[in-house]
Amino acid sequence: MFEALGQRFSTVFSGLRGKVTQPQLVEFAQDIKLALLDSDVALAVADNFSAKILEKFQEKSDEINRSTNPSQKIFEIVNNQLTLTLGGNTRRVRYAKTAPTVILLTGLQGAGKTSLAGKLANYFKSEGNTPLLVAADLQRPNAVTQLQVVGQSIKIPVFAPEPGNGVGDPVEVARAGLRFATEKLHNFVIIDTAGRTGIDEEMMQQVTNVRNAVNPDEVFFVVDAMIGQDAAFTAKAFAQGVGFDAIVLTKLDGDARGGAALSVVELTGKPIIFTSTGEKINDFEPFYPERMSSRILGLGDVASLAEQAKRAMPEDSSKKLEEKFVKGEDFTFEDFLSQLEAMKNMGSISKLMSLLPGATGMKKQIENFDESELVRSRAIIESMTPLERRNPKILNGSRRARIAQGSGRAISEINSLVERFSQAQKMMKQMRGKNPAAGLPSFAGIGGGQVPQNKIEIPKKKSRSGNPAKRALEEGK
Ligand code: GDP
Repeated sequence: MFEALGQRFSTVFSGLRGKVTQPQLVEFAQDIKLALLDSDVALAVADNFSAKILEKFQEKSDEINRSTNPSQKIFEIVNNQLTLTLGGNTRRVRYAKTAPTVILLTGLQGAGKTSLAGKLANYFKSEGNTPLLVAADLQRPNAVTQLQVVGQSIKIPVFAPEPGNGVGDPVEVARAGLRFATEKLHNFVIIDTAGRTGIDEEMMQQVTNVRNAVNPDEVFFVVDAMIGQDAAFTAKAFAQGVGFDAIVLTKLDGDARGGAALSVVELTGKPIIFTSTGEKINDFEPFYPERMSSRILGLGDVASLAEQAKRAMPEDSSKKLEEKFVKGEDFTFEDFLSQLEAMKNMGSISKLMSLLPGATGMKKQIENFDESELVRSRAIIESMTPLERRNPKILNGSRRARIAQGSGRAISEINSLVERFSQAQKMMKQMRGKNPAAGLPSFAGIGGGQVPQNKIEIPKKKSRSGNPAKRALEEGK
């Protein structure tokens, strides 16, 4: 998502060179509006965006003219406006003063409510809470069973007194669920409700009745970003019909153009609170407008990448690695193996790569990234003896031949892995003395090193290797 918009922005920016005249600024704002419209952003939002940046250009015209790098200033203005359009500040969950905190999920059928109920519950559980899931979608065939299966897989109880499939009263289920949670001291209650395939009065009324019965602390509207700017209009209808507090955008992993994300906040006046980026339980994250704006503009989302690395890497192994740095000990294949493990926990490498600066310009490379390479590397390392893993220098010809046989890989693959490993080791030595916790070394092909987080750099159209992210990867940053 957003690749096309990112590329369009990058093209519009590359047209700015040296001093910028007033007519050029007007044309630039118009080009940005067209780029937004092409990404399925609602007309009113695109219009407003373009008017706002033009207003800022005017306000800051002296500053822009005096600057040695006017396009940098313009870039900052667009970045700020994009962040504002996405909601400005991060919206956090509002907890109830007295537990439990009750969260009601609404939205059209197929938006991803039931999946989201599991993701949310799992997220709260990971923060030390004791959530309860309540199956009040009694309409959609199998919605109750689906929630029970999800609950079982994440070891979170599901309150489901009715079989669903058209049987039972959702208001009663929601009420009883809340009583049950209070009795059993669950501090979060997540209520899944029924949706329809389109907006209809009866569904809105049912959700309203459930809401009135349980008086939730938060009503989240779950909306499928794949349906483009229609998603924003559906959200608007719900905001007027049922009312909600915040939006969860699902299916952001799809190839929709991003119009929904960019239109929904302005059209409803409600913030996006979480996003879902896949079908797995961990494909879910809080929404940070600033980070999303960075991603769209090709600056990457290094903060999210670092957070995911931190979550995936057990604390003791990241501490161990840090200590090694400080003491000046060598990075070994054992360390590498534990990093491979962490990367596996972090999920799809292609998804992680999309967080790197410049990722919008490297869609093809990201899609073609060969994840099986990691599996092969792992097999090779696992065929080494503990001594070899700690002292890769002893890997002579006969040892390499034995490892090749053990792992079922060609000797040339063993050689290339050892070669890349030595480079990573060298890089780790060079990095010593800088920030030891800077991240994963680039040995496995992603991430690592320090990527400036606050410095805004305009993605240049032509760079040594075509785009900044690819260059960062090549240089092992
Ligand atoms: P509900 O009718 O609103 O409860 O929707 P479901 O939770 O059953 O989701 C509908 C379909 O969308 C299911 O096949 C989910 O696996 C899928 N789904 C949900 N969230 C995402 C997401 O973020 N990305 C993708 N690709 N699929 C999703």
